[in-house]
Amino acid sequence: MTSAVLPTYSRANMSFETGEGSWLIARDGTRYLDLGAGIAVTGLGHAHPALVKVLQDQAGALWHTSNLYQIPHQEALAQKLSDATFADTMFFTNSGAEAMECAIKMARKYWYDKGQPDRVNIITFTGSFHGRTLATISAAGSEKLTKGFGPLVEGFINLPAGDHEALQDALDDTIAAVIVEPVQGEGGIIPLPDACLKGLRDMCDTTGALLVFDEIQCGVGRTGKLFAHEWAGVTPDIMAIAKGIGNGFPLGACLATEEAASGMTAGTHGSTYGGNPLACAVGSAVMDIVADHDFLSEVSRKSGLLRQSLEGLVASHPTIFELVRGAGLMIGLKCVVPNSDVVNACYDTHLLTVPGGDNVIRLLPAMTISDDEIKEAVARLHRAATALEGTQ
Ligand SMILES: *Cc1c(COP(=O)(O)O)cnc(C)c1O
Repeated sequence: MTSAVLPTYSRANMSFETGEGSWLIARDGTRYLDLGAGIAVTGLGHAHPALVKVLQDQAGALWHTSNLYQIPHQEALAQKLSDATFADTMFFTNSGAEAMECAIKMARKYWYDKGQPDRVNIITFTGSFHGRTLATISAAGSEKLTKGFGPLVEGFINLPAGDHEALQDALDDTIAAVIVEPVQGEGGIIPLPDACLKGLRDMCDTTGALLVFDEIQCGVGRTGKLFAHEWAGVTPDIMAIAKGIGNGFPLGACLATEEAASGMTAGTHGSTYGGNPLACAVGSAVMDIVADHDFLSEVSRKSGLLRQSLEGLVASHPTIFELVRGAGLMIGLKCVVPNSDVVNACYDTHLLTVPGGDNVIRLLPAMTISDDEIKEAVARLHRAATALEGTQ
């Protein structure tokens, strides 16, 4: 079949008609156990009843007014996020890349307004991913993202992750900000050690550079804390979120301290759709569920259960899997064989996983996954691995 859609994705030959919790159902009724959750988006599962109701109610009341007027749902969501985090203020977007764009603009404007207009450079790390706009591909810097799209946005200094000396040398008074994912997602589920996040915070405090966390994939409960940086006990000056906050309704946000956001005055930034009533009604309902101690401790408990079974999986299939790593329900299985082979073998068992960098398959299940569904998922991973062993 030829398609009228731009072929920028190599799509699997599958589509789904409905979803229920951790399951996606094809037109012929086949049920797929979904450990991808739309790439860490549907963290509360498909068709969550409370979220369906909120969206239906809002759809019957009001869709869109623009940011020319007060938007009560936007105010309410901002208050909830502010109450639960370091942030005093925030800007709402429709996607992760736009939240990162806002973070980059905010950092530069901060120094401009402080009388240091040349302090524009931003340090980023290899293997990171911050979105697909020109600024965010320039930020991540990898050739896979940037090739053919130059000239790129200037001012990004991409350093090898973990090279403290290179960081120390680069972090001078031309650096406006440092951007880091507390757990790299696309890069292959690579958690940054707590000590590194702490060290980064200290170094930024010394030079004044703003510390920006990209929690677009690892945030909103996925690691067992509301935000992944909480594990390290440090806070950023600016943080981008998206994915899980809308559970599939397009929504992102750039959160900040009052100080870091001080340059973003009336007229400096905007978005037609950003923070619209539909998105913010859903986001607000997501926060009501996720920003809860019991919910988050369940994420950690389920993570333990899954991780333990996956260690057994890796041990039983050493020619297929090398290791398991990650945080909470954000897990990477590093493969020995090409990860795409494993993703395809999982499809054959009606299990959905997501490939990632460093030859991993990503397991990003809905945080509402049940213990039985975890057992079923691991059983299917064993079957997929056994089938691949049969071809070796
Ligand atoms: C997905 C992702 C983005 C980009 O989000 P979009 O909504 O696709 O623009 C940015 N950073 C990280 C860490 C992500 O996982």
